[in-house]
Amino acid sequence: MMKIESINQWNVHASRPLIMAGPCSAETEEQLYETTKAIKAQGVSLIRAGVWKPRTRPGSFEGIGQQALQWIQDIKKELNVQFAVEVANAMHVEEALHYGIDVLWVGARSTVSPFIVQEIADALKGCDVPVLVKNPINPDLALWIGAFERLAQAGLTKLGAIHRGFSTYQKTRFRNVPMWQLPIELKRQMPELPIICDPSHITGKRDMVAEISQVAMDLNFDGLIIETHRDPENAWSDASQQITPAVLGELIKNLQIRNPSSLDIEYITHLEDLRTQIDHADREMMEIISSRMDMVAQIGEWKKKNNVAAFQLDRWNEVFDSRKSWGESLNLRKKFVVELFNLLHVESIHKQTEVMDNAESENETESGLKINK
Ligand code: PEP
Ligand code: MN
Repeated sequence: MMKIESINQWNVHASRPLIMAGPCSAETEEQLYETTKAIKAQGVSLIRAGVWKPRTRPGSFEGIGQQALQWIQDIKKELNVQFAVEVANAMHVEEALHYGIDVLWVGARSTVSPFIVQEIADALKGCDVPVLVKNPINPDLALWIGAFERLAQAGLTKLGAIHRGFSTYQKTRFRNVPMWQLPIELKRQMPELPIICDPSHITGKRDMVAEISQVAMDLNFDGLIIETHRDPENAWSDASQQITPAVLGELIKNLQIRNPSSLDIEYITHLEDLRTQIDHADREMMEIISSRMDMVAQIGEWKKKNNVAAFQLDRWNEVFDSRKSWGESLNLRKKFVVELFNLLHVESIHKQTEVMDNAESENETESGLKINK
């Protein structure tokens, strides 16, 4: 079992939700100082800053490096704030710790590489610093969990996840699609692990940052990491997604913070009531699916008797179209109805081919459609 300490034990200046804010990159000493001072004035004193920047293509700004760590050390003293920095190899870890960085994070491009994560974990052996791990750029939960396991094996206990969305080649309104089911599944598998949302890298657009921050609060995330810059338009990296410290202050003020749970008796009884109704609805739904499968089996028998193939394209198109419009009138999203009926269709074909094959010779080869066997 992995030992994971709650955020309260992390020795960071933060309460729930944990808010971290700061520029994508440390650019100049003045930019970092002024941005930090303005963020602190909004009540946030855990500052993020990229010191080494992983860039997709060479030639863009790749971070200031060690010199920025010196600025951070000075600003920490001067403004009484704490800093979080991304590390991507053993040398980064050594330097960041040497300059007294309070929190480290592993970037999305590093989480995909077990070699890099292991190198970072080895360099951190025996340290007590909080380490946050961003999700890998591809939606692979095992890779994300593997990173926590490597860090835990190195003795780290102040661990947290950062959900920054997943890369996609499709055009969407997000820079990195959130796929909320992944961080939720991570929480299910590792309930002790705090999860922080990074709405800046999910959206890629400053106008959408507040909206996604609120979604994260509604889903009971433990905190937010928000790219904030005193002059976002002229930032040296990720200019389109950074917000000003004043906008950050507004965003925090407007956040609706939900309780993880409530002990209120009225709340509990009503919730129990609704959950019982859902249990009944699910039971009925499964009974209906089961009788639908019986009908499918009967059709299978009938088709077999008349030597007709299990799959008829026209009928399938008709089913699909009618269900989509039924769904619409029932207020069900089209995408959901399509996925649901695809699943039912695959299972129905499976059922029919089973019925049609069964009566035939036992040695018959399996039909390619029996994919779920
Ligand atoms: C960052 O936080 O600036 C960053 C590089 O993010 P990510 O690793 O999520 O791409
Ligand atoms: Mn960035």
